[in-house]
Amino acid sequence: MIRSLFDENRTSKSDVFATTREINVKEMEAIGFDYDYTLANYSPEIQVLIYNMVRDHQIQLSSILISLVGLICSAWFVKERIGSQELTLSLFKARDYMVNSLKYPQEFLQWATYDPNFAIRGLYYDTAKGNIMKLDYLNNLQPDSMYFGKKALTKQQIIKQYGTLHVSTSYFPTLRAMIDNFSLPETCLISDAIEFFVQNKISFDPASVGADITKAIRFIHTTLSLHNEVLKDLPRYMRGQRPRLSEFLHKLNRKQRKLFLLTNSPYYFVDAGMTYMLGKEWRDLFDVVITSADKPSWFTGVGRPFRRYHVESQQIAWDRVAAFERSQVYVGGSMDQFTKMIKVNGWQTLYLGDHIFSDLREPSRTQGWRTGAIVSELEKEIEIQKTLDYNDTLVEMMKLQDLRNKLDMLAKDKEATCLFDIKADIKRLRHSLKVMTSSPSHPYAPMSACLSLILMFPDPL
Ligand SMILES: [Mg+2]
Repeated sequence: MIRSLFDENRTSKSDVFATTREINVKEMEAIGFDYDYTLANYSPEIQVLIYNMVRDHQIQLSSILISLVGLICSAWFVKERIGSQELTLSLFKARDYMVNSLKYPQEFLQWATYDPNFAIRGLYYDTAKGNIMKLDYLNNLQPDSMYFGKKALTKQQIIKQYGTLHVSTSYFPTLRAMIDNFSLPETCLISDAIEFFVQNKISFDPASVGADITKAIRFIHTTLSLHNEVLKDLPRYMRGQRPRLSEFLHKLNRKQRKLFLLTNSPYYFVDAGMTYMLGKEWRDLFDVVITSADKPSWFTGVGRPFRRYHVESQQIAWDRVAAFERSQVYVGGSMDQFTKMIKVNGWQTLYLGDHIFSDLREPSRTQGWRTGAIVSELEKEIEIQKTLDYNDTLVEMMKLQDLRNKLDMLAKDKEATCLFDIKADIKRLRHSLKVMTSSPSHPYAPMSACLSLILMFPDPL
C-alpha cells in the first residue's frame, strides 16, 4: 500500500488496493490516477440515479420506437411496391428488433426500483440463458448465487441447464462480465426486466434485453446527462471532502514523484469533483492532467497528439503540445506520446484505476507500467477477515483440510468413518465462513467477485 510504504504505518482496511505481485513504490518515479472510483468516490445514491435514468430512458426509447415502427410499416408497404429483397430483410430485422426487443411498457416504470443489495461488481450475465451468475477464479459456478430475473436457481436447475457446476472457457463468449461500477444498476435492470417479462408472460431474448440496457447506460454516459445530474448535487453523489487524499498527494509531491491524472471524463466534470474534494488549487498537485483521454485506446493508439485545453475559455488548442506544463490541462494524446514527453521508464510508472479493461490491462501490456486495482469492496471483506471468530474458524478448517489430505494419501480404506467425519467438519466450517461474510439480504455477498475477475486476468497486474 502506497501510504504505508511512505509512512511506515500499518495498512488499514480503507487503504488497501489489490495487486498480484509486489511493487516497490519507492522505485516508482511517476504515479498516475484514474478519476472516477479511484480518486473520486461516489455514494450509493449514484447507482440509484443511474438505474432510474436508464429505466426512464428505456421507456422514452420505447415510445419513440413505437412511432418508428409505424413509419417502418409504412416503408414496408412501399417496399411491396418496389420489390427490394434487401429492403424487406432490413426492415423486417429492424421491425422485429424494435417490436420484440425494445418494447418496454409504461408499467415497467412503476414496477422497477433499484435494489442496492442485489448486485455486486464482477458478476456475469449469460446472454443466452438470461442468468446472472457468480464464478470463482477457476470458473466454478456458485450454486446459491445464480439468478434468473429475481429468482435464485437451485443446484438441480443449474445442472439441468449447464450440465455441470463449471463453465468452460469456450462458453465465455456467451457471458458478459459486469465489471465496472455501472454494472450494479445494469445488472439490477437486466434482472428486473427479465422478471417483468416473465411475470407478464412477455417473450424476450436475453441477449437483446442485455444489449438494450447496455445501450441505454452508454447513452446516459456518452451524452453527459449523468455527469450533469451528478453536478447538480455533488454532496449527494460524492463522498465528501478528502483531506487525507490531499495530504497523501502533497506527500508524493514532496517525494518528487511525477503525478498525473488520466481520465476519460471531461474536464468540467473532473474539475467540479476535484474542487469539491480538494479545493480550487487541486491542479497544482499534478504534473500532468489529462482529461477526455479515451482509454483504453489511449494506451494503444500511436501518434495521437495531446491538445491543450484552455480552462478559462473552455477551448481546445489547435497546435500540437511539445511539452507538458504543470497545472495545465490536456485532452486526448496517447501513452506512446506521454512516455516520450514525461521521460519515465514504463517499469517505474505506477497507474491506479478501478477498471480492468480501461485502466489496468493495456498499460502493462503496452509499456510495462505497473498497475494497481482499486477494489473498494474489499474494505468490508477485510474487516470481516480480521475478526477473531473468522480467523479461528479459518485456521481450524485449514488444519482439518491438511489432515484430510494426509489421511487421503495414507488411508487404505477411503470409506473410513474418520474421513467422513473430517469431510463433514470441513463442510460445516466452510459454511460458517460463508455465513460470516454474507448477509441474508444480499445474494452475492461476500463482495469478492471482482477480485476473482482480476485474478482471471493476471497479465495486467
Ligand atoms: Mg474509473
